[in-house]
Amino acid sequence: MLERLEEDAPLACPYFAPTERFDEAGWVHPQRLPLGAGFRGRCCAPEHDGSVPTDEALRSQCNLGYAHQCGWLPAERFADAVRFSIAQDRDHQIVICCVCERNYLPGGNSSLRYDTQRRYWPVSHHNPQIQRLAQCFLQVYLDRRAIGVEATQEREGSDETNELPG
Ligand code: SF4
Repeated sequence: MLERLEEDAPLACPYFAPTERFDEAGWVHPQRLPLGAGFRGRCCAPEHDGSVPTDEALRSQCNLGYAHQCGWLPAERFADAVRFSIAQDRDHQIVICCVCERNYLPGGNSSLRYDTQRRYWPVSHHNPQIQRLAQCFLQVYLDRRAIGVEATQEREGSDETNELPG
């Protein structure tokens, strides 16, 4: 599963503000979703800020991006979708590549950085909406990484504990 997150992932709507996991939605391959898992949340689009999308919209639009069928998606928008991928994970530093797409073309690229030892973002996204999506993506990655470490320790019979660093 970690391998999938390290590749380019699909995309999420840039106006989506995830709030909690939506694991019961019946996703076929939740690990392939843009944020690494399905989420419930709110819409941050102008004039709909704070509105809660329907479960169907969450399943087919908010979590997937390019939601052209969505009546809340602004006609004037900076992006259709946002893509995240893990660019680096070493020495307590996780670098996340963030690409905003418009009309299937890459727009702004950003390189975000999270310090897993100090648990803060030395480099975050200037747009708080995108930063919230990045935080979600990171949390799913850290959860899976911790599970992977635990499984490895079990296989190796190690007594060492591994505290989630972020
Ligand atoms: S898909 Fe529509 S409802 Fe969902 S976050 Fe985007 S604009 Fe809002």
